[in-house]
Amino acid sequence: MTEHSTVTLETATPVISPDTQTVTEVEHYTDSLFRFRVTRPASMRFRSGEFVMLGLMGDAHPETGKQKPLLRAYSIASPAWDDTLQFYSIKVDNGPLTSKLQHIKVGDQVILKPKSVGTLVHDALTPANRIWFFSTGTGIAPFASLLREPETYERFDEVVLTHSCRDLADLKFGQELIKEARNDILIGVAAQHKLRYYPTTTREISPKMGRITTLLEDGSLFSDLGIAGFNATSDRAMVCGSMGLNSDMKRILENFGLREGANSDPGDYVIEKAFVG
Ligand SMILES: Cc1cc2nc3c(=O)[nH]c(=O)nc-3n(C[C@H](O)[C@H](O)[C@H](O)COP(=O)(O)OP(=O)(O)OC[C@H]3O[C@@H](n4cnc5c(N)ncnc54)[C@H](O)[C@@H]3O)c2cc1C
Repeated sequence: MTEHSTVTLETATPVISPDTQTVTEVEHYTDSLFRFRVTRPASMRFRSGEFVMLGLMGDAHPETGKQKPLLRAYSIASPAWDDTLQFYSIKVDNGPLTSKLQHIKVGDQVILKPKSVGTLVHDALTPANRIWFFSTGTGIAPFASLLREPETYERFDEVVLTHSCRDLADLKFGQELIKEARNDILIGVAAQHKLRYYPTTTREISPKMGRITTLLEDGSLFSDLGIAGFNATSDRAMVCGSMGLNSDMKRILENFGLREGANSDPGDYVIEKAFVG
């Protein structure tokens, strides 16, 4: 589906089993990107920035007729306090899950394993003044959670989101997210003062072009934002993108003297893959 469309369900239909949730909203952005919301299991707790396993039943086995769940890792793209769970998804041609998932409609059921995990959480970082969220493509999803999390603004004086995509249409989800954060009842005032947004395209011509790693290494990111640079005292970072972005960012951040953190050993930066492959 290429046209921009939103469908919303006012009253969710009842949930069939503990691992099955009902789709309440679907919005398609491009041929390869869409977002959706599902009901939240009543007992589910998670930390903003974490991911869960989500999917659909696979096709029936040709001989036995049995169906197995087809599950993939998905970052929760809504904050821990939200009543429903939002996800932001790729549509992979011939992808086992997303070739089906892209057709979900309001009222459909998805499988959601409520146990959440992940390293892009506040607990994995030590305190500082400024937090950087570096993302490419659907790697923005965990930051859609953290940008609407009050703790982000309580812990940091400045919050910078960078989002790099090939084309301008791929930035739309992030643009809407920023607008929503700045108008949010809970964190809107803090976001208006503290949140900065740095979108770039890598293919289509736009006001700011280039890979974030290049813009970091040639200093344009800092000069554009009027920031002197990174240092381990004032800056913390979270990174979510392809394997290539993640390994380049790890090298760059460590060259600036930042140390990788984990849930069990908080540090200066944390990294998570936006997908495998
Ligand atoms: C920790 C973690 C969190 C994730 N969170 C999300 C998320 O929030 N949203 C999301 O869309 N996907 C996310 N993924 C990827 C997701 O798990 C699936 O890979 C994706 O849904 C495609 O599933 P599939 O079965 O259609 O294809 P798969 O067989 O899983 O993937 C086929 C190929 O498509 C490419 N691909 C897969 N996912 C992406 C992607 N997101 N962006 C660009 N290329 C991709 C890769 O080259 C991959 O080898 C996450 C993965 C991990 C490890």
